[in-house]
Amino acid sequence: MSRIKKVRGFQDIYGENAKKYRFVVDTARKIFERYNFEEIILPYVEDVSLFIRSVGEETDIVQKEMYIFEDRGGRRVALRPEGTASAVRAYIEEKLYAKGGYHKLFYEGAMFRYERPQAGRYRQFHQIGAEIFGTDSPLADAELIKMVKEILDRLCIEVRLEINTLGDFESRKRYMEVLKEFLKKREDALCEDCRKRIERNPLRVLDCKIESCREATKDAPVLMDFISEESLQRFEKLKEYLNALKIEYEINPRLVRGLDYYTDTVFEFITDKIGAQGTVAAGGRYDTLVNQLGGPETPALGFAAGIERLMLLVDKLPEKKSLIAVIPVVTEFNIEGLKTAQKIREKEIKTELILKEGSLKSKMKLANKIGARYVVFVSEKPELKDMETGEQEIFQNIDDLIDALAGKI
Ligand code: ATP
Ligand code: MG
Repeated sequence: MSRIKKVRGFQDIYGENAKKYRFVVDTARKIFERYNFEEIILPYVEDVSLFIRSVGEETDIVQKEMYIFEDRGGRRVALRPEGTASAVRAYIEEKLYAKGGYHKLFYEGAMFRYERPQAGRYRQFHQIGAEIFGTDSPLADAELIKMVKEILDRLCIEVRLEINTLGDFESRKRYMEVLKEFLKKREDALCEDCRKRIERNPLRVLDCKIESCREATKDAPVLMDFISEESLQRFEKLKEYLNALKIEYEINPRLVRGLDYYTDTVFEFITDKIGAQGTVAAGGRYDTLVNQLGGPETPALGFAAGIERLMLLVDKLPEKKSLIAVIPVVTEFNIEGLKTAQKIREKEIKTELILKEGSLKSKMKLANKIGARYVVFVSEKPELKDMETGEQEIFQNIDDLIDALAGKI
């Protein structure tokens, strides 16, 4: 019979990779909590119009990457392609703003985009991300960037930070007109997607990954020359704060990000180690989005990082915890074995009861294979074997053995 395979662009994450996945998420969680962010667990399915109205009608995500379907009740829904839109919807719908002050939230989980699968790019991928609602202080931008940097440092991932400012909506509109004129003159040199973008979303042309498009837009007018004094000043403040935190950055005037909702600060953490899929974490401000989706005017900002891309860059997992194998030497000691394994686990020690009947030799072979550091032989006179030194010690009873074991680990 033919076997059923996983769907293109989807993956099983297991073994060493599952450990890396957990390591990335656990590390991020610790840092989020240290910065006083609270978790929000968001739905995977949302009304399709949420993404059209936030990510933007003309973006790649909405134009060609979303998983959209009709549910059995006739609702047009999408598997979420990103987390910010849902976080904003929840912020408004759950009236989080009513509590006053500002809100710092983090999330984790799967995102879905119908893209061409390749290393570091999948159709189901996973992100960690965080959002801050309700403050326009550039202190928030600096702290958010510092937090992301800290996560990356903890994972021993080397990156460079690129920042830019997109200015406010008005200045961006003025710039877009000038950019459009420029792009029209170079239309022939652009890819098909970019030609369509000239009218609909000219900013995105600057973000195109295709080399010939990059070449053709090398001398494009620069957004920084068009933005308001206020935006420039806030950018200066951010730079000052980053300097104070000793965070190195480069200003990349072409950095625009692929989503429509950004205003003012945008940033990307980039590595050169994994080829074209080099952006591992990215984010920025989106001061108008909450209002645009029907909430009160609320300045906000956030970031997201792709867990799979971080996993590609993690090469050392933290030291493994020692594993204890419990072996009932003969079947008569199975019940004692069950109980012993439980008792050891109660001491928060990683324990495997050898789930195998048969000769003691075959059980030992298995203990070896799973990498047990110590083996506990359960019999009338319990024994502890150090698998590294080969030393063996006999105890009067199992409790004495466990006490001795706990002292060694
Ligand atoms: P890219 O330019 O690589 O397509 P993006 O601008 O679409 O990224 P965002 O929407 O900002 O990315 O998502 C934030 C992060 O999520 C990215 O920096 C990347 O690490 C990760 N990411 C995005 N799309 C994918 C994907 N299809 N597979 C794996 N990771 C992804
Ligand atoms: Mg993309």
